Amino acid sequence: MDIHHIRNIYCVGRNYGLHAAELGNSVPDEPMIFTKPTHALVVADGSPVVLPEDRGDVHYEAELVLHIGRDYTPGMTVDELVDVMSLGIDFTLRDVQNVIKSKGYPWLPAKGFLRSAVVTKPIAFPGLEAIKSLELSLKRNGQEVQRGSASQMIFSLQTLIDYIASHYGLGAGDLIYTGTPPGVAAVQDGDRYELLWDERVLGAFTAKLGD
Ligand code: ZN
Repeated sequence: MDIHHIRNIYCVGRNYGLHAAELGNSVPDEPMIFTKPTHALVVADGSPVVLPEDRGDVHYEAELVLHIGRDYTPGMTVDELVDVMSLGIDFTLRDVQNVIKSKGYPWLPAKGFLRSAVVTKPIAFPGLEAIKSLELSLKRNGQEVQRGSASQMIFSLQTLIDYIASHYGLGAGDLIYTGTPPGVAAVQDGDRYELLWDERVLGAFTAKLGD
């Protein structure tokens, strides 16, 4: 997976009940999908990630990220479609998002800014059955702040894939950020983040506020 060859970046909002609740949001009755420009992508390779400093709070949202390895045709399973997975952070300008939501404006300014889509190096997708017993977690300055598993998702990975494919299209080179578990909070300048899968670090970086 080369980030320069990613085609579409789909993201899922409110896919864990406890995260929807922590932001005072209702649980959706169908998947809430939005996209980010591919220019938002940055790899968690240890180097600093520069984020906006003058647009209110930037929240981290750690997520399981699926990479689609082939073009979708109806009936295909997650295991057939997903070749590798990563962990990622869907950075969100929370104050901007709150204004946008109240006005009914599109989410792009809150979700699509430069470096808002962090991804770790990819690993082989373990399969839909195995993934249910594995957990992602996020450490901030050495302390765990988020933990979750695909088994806690409101919409299953298969439901997300079928929904996205039938509404927007899905093909080789697309990424899906599958939503965040509870524990989101505002980034502080100099925070060190580590993304862990099954207690193993897949990627790390330092956040720098200063764009
Ligand atoms: Zn998210």
